[in-house]
Amino acid sequence: MEKVDHIGIAVNNLEQKITYYTEILGLKLLNIEEVPSQNVRVAFLDAGNVHIELLEPLSDEGAIYKHIQKRGEGIQHVAFKVSDINHKMQELREKNVRILSEQPVEGAGGSKAAFIHPKDSFGVLYELYEKSSKGE
Ligand code: ZN
Repeated sequence: MEKVDHIGIAVNNLEQKITYYTEILGLKLLNIEEVPSQNVRVAFLDAGNVHIELLEPLSDEGAIYKHIQKRGEGIQHVAFKVSDINHKMQELREKNVRILSEQPVEGAGGSKAAFIHPKDSFGVLYELYEKSSKGE
C-alpha cells in the first residue's frame, strides 16, 4: 500500500454536502462524476495530503445506498493507493484475505478498485485503488 489516497463518505444530497465541505470547511472541489458500475455519483475534494470522496447513491441499490439505510451517512471506506491492483489482490488472496470482487471494478476517473472483506479487516472496509495514468 503506497498511502491513503482518499476517505469515502456516504451521503444523501451530494450538492448540499459539497457546499458544506467547500464553503464551511474550505476544501477545494476537484471533480464530480457518475460511476455507474458502483451505482453512485461521487465528488472528490482536496484535503491536502488526502482526498475526501463523497458518494451519493444513484438509486435504491448498491453498497452506498445500503450503508445509508443501515448506518446513516458517514465514513464508508478508506482507500489505499496501489500501483498494480491485480498484483496486490493476488498477494492478499495468498494471505487468505478475501476480496469482494473477482476482478477490479471500474472506479471514478477511469481508476480500478477492489474492496477487502470488512470482516478480514476487523470492521473496516478498505479499498484498493489504482489510479489511471491520466492522473486524478
Ligand atoms: Zn473510494
